[in-house]
Amino acid sequence: MHDEVSSFNPYHMAVQQFELAAGKLGLSEDMQEILRKPKRELVVNFPVRLDNGRIKTYTGYRVQHNVNRGPAKGGIRYSPEVTLDEVKALAMWMTWKCAVVGIPYGGAKGGVICDPKGMTSAELERMTRRYTTEISIVIGPHSDIPAPDVNTNSQVMAWLMDTYSMHMGFSIPAVVTGKPLSIGGSEGRNDATATGVLFVTRRAARRIGMPLKGARVSIQGFGNAGSIAARLFHTEGCKVVAVSDTRGAIYNESGLDPAAVLRYKQEQGSVFGFPGAQSLRVSDVLEVPCDILIPAATEGVITANNAERVQARIVTEAANGPTTPAADEVLFKKGCVVIPDILANAGGVTVSYFEWVQDLQSFFWGTEEITQRLEVIMDRAFDAVAEQAERYHCDMRLAANMLAISRVAEATQIRGIYP
Ligand code: NAD
Repeated sequence: MHDEVSSFNPYHMAVQQFELAAGKLGLSEDMQEILRKPKRELVVNFPVRLDNGRIKTYTGYRVQHNVNRGPAKGGIRYSPEVTLDEVKALAMWMTWKCAVVGIPYGGAKGGVICDPKGMTSAELERMTRRYTTEISIVIGPHSDIPAPDVNTNSQVMAWLMDTYSMHMGFSIPAVVTGKPLSIGGSEGRNDATATGVLFVTRRAARRIGMPLKGARVSIQGFGNAGSIAARLFHTEGCKVVAVSDTRGAIYNESGLDPAAVLRYKQEQGSVFGFPGAQSLRVSDVLEVPCDILIPAATEGVITANNAERVQARIVTEAANGPTTPAADEVLFKKGCVVIPDILANAGGVTVSYFEWVQDLQSFFWGTEEITQRLEVIMDRAFDAVAEQAERYHCDMRLAANMLAISRVAEATQIRGIYP
């Protein structure tokens, strides 16, 4: 059991999930071999001048897993923990995610090994511009379109767009999504991931006859996905009983006020120590009494070691890869509904797709139109996955993976093998 955690490798986990679904689909060995490996892995080492005059060399990655259904799409992560295998896993999950919600993209991901919290804004800008330059041989509005992920935001996307545009000699907003509104960003993009999380959770709750009003919600991670989910679920009438970040967790059985917690985090740098709440260890947020658990931080946090102690009836994976295959089994046996990452957090890439479409046609939509279109896509995808799970008597992850993989395999088959 302990080994599962100490030897956690996201790519091995992604491949394990893939093989489970591919086996159940009866996919040929040849097709499995095509889909198991990323199409392209770019590793870049590049120097950046620091504010103190010294030069630091950073390592970055851009991986494209599969582009048979459309251009590659996927976020960029800045973290000391980034590894090539993590980026490969995230790229593969992006392929399945775009397929499961039926948007015409393949999967990609990028990352730089760095500690953005220890860098000045000027250093971050120079690193972003140089990283963009290094990966510009593979990205582009028709080939591979980056977006924000952990520790990157709309400002980083603006630098990326500007750098790419400077090289080309004219503005190319469609090269990246998650941009500020003033340079071709989309209404609704900031809230998109959390909005999608709310839509699918609402659907799941209805299916198991659980009212959302008054439901207790616990959220791991209080960044873009987590803090906005807290606000949206609170507005929906849920009780957000616990939230956490890297420093610790806070709990109040009567419910927290997400806006006040966010203000506290902005002032203090962490949710930990929020007045009027009980302080807990980081991992406790997954085990507190609640009806809905939203992991919104990182991979491999619900494992065979703690899955038995998860009390929620619904786990909605805002984060990518938070639940290991061994934990999936435990949760399924307990009757806990896990809405898998590739479905649950697909709101982000869906509105990114809307942003890209708007940029390409230079014609922009209003918030209402974005939200309506997002709801249609998320609900349709949720229903398709739930039906597949019923038909195969399996959990929603396997069902979602089967649906997605069969769509990518079909596209691969129809296009044929070049030359
Ligand atoms: P973020 O950087 O804005 O926030 C991450 C949060 O998680 C922070 O509060 C951080 O303190 C916390 N955290 C990190 N490691 C932790 C740990 N080990 N334990 C507890 N807390 C931890 O990132 P984000 O954009 O909100 O992304 C979070 C997750 O959601 C990632 O898995 C990401 O891939 C996924 N996701 C994000 C989007 C998006 O649009 N932002 C879309 C799809 C999926």
